[in-house]
Amino acid sequence: MKPINDFPAMWENDEARVDVCYSAAGVSTTVIVTSKFTGKILIADVGDGTLRDLLSMFKTEFVEEIDMICITHGHFDHMGGLHSLLGFMRDWNRGPALDILTPAGSIEVLNMVRGFREAYRDTTSFRIRLQEVRPGVGFDTDFFKLNVFDVEHSGMENPNDEDVLMPAVGYRILLGDTTISYTGDTRMCESTKDLVRDADLAIIEATLDSPPDSGHRVHLTLDEARELASLAKDAMLIHRIPKIDGASKLPK
Ligand SMILES: [Zn+2]
Repeated sequence: MKPINDFPAMWENDEARVDVCYSAAGVSTTVIVTSKFTGKILIADVGDGTLRDLLSMFKTEFVEEIDMICITHGHFDHMGGLHSLLGFMRDWNRGPALDILTPAGSIEVLNMVRGFREAYRDTTSFRIRLQEVRPGVGFDTDFFKLNVFDVEHSGMENPNDEDVLMPAVGYRILLGDTTISYTGDTRMCESTKDLVRDADLAIIEATLDSPPDSGHRVHLTLDEARELASLAKDAMLIHRIPKIDGASKLPK
């Protein structure tokens, strides 16, 4: 299975349509799941450009139709577009309450939403229900059912050389009879296999071409992503390192 390097990429069956609007490590990732029966939308990760992508796909209908936003972890390339999206929905007077799921203790997301609430509390037309989730829990709305899985991911937050994991989860999304798994960012671990097993579609990060020479394992290699993909019925391999001025690896 080849990784997808050009976006948008789309997958669909009778019940669901999945659009990976864009995904590149250290830039942005946005996954949009739309129910073909209800028109309701789930957004998994809200990277920079999410608002622009939604406008190009749906005009402004999404303002009312987004049922849930679930965020895998607090790195900017997975949540940097959240402020813009909330601001737009406020401008357009969204009505329904909005559930935002984020890993427990994800300070980037918690602080961003807290700042938005503080700035616009009295002038926001909809309620933001921020749900801090932990692996093993489920979360249901009238339209989507989610199960939360442990993944192992870290970044450059730790100034020491210790292997410190950050709050990070993967989501298994059920919509009718369709199961869509999304790993977010992770290194290989047993729970990631459980996350993708037998899914109709597994969306898997495949950041690295080969294992890093040294340091802690932060992302999946292409071979590991392929191994995970073999456990699911269908898969998309995303979140590659973009070609920026010839750079071929993530900055240290
Ligand atoms: Zn990350």
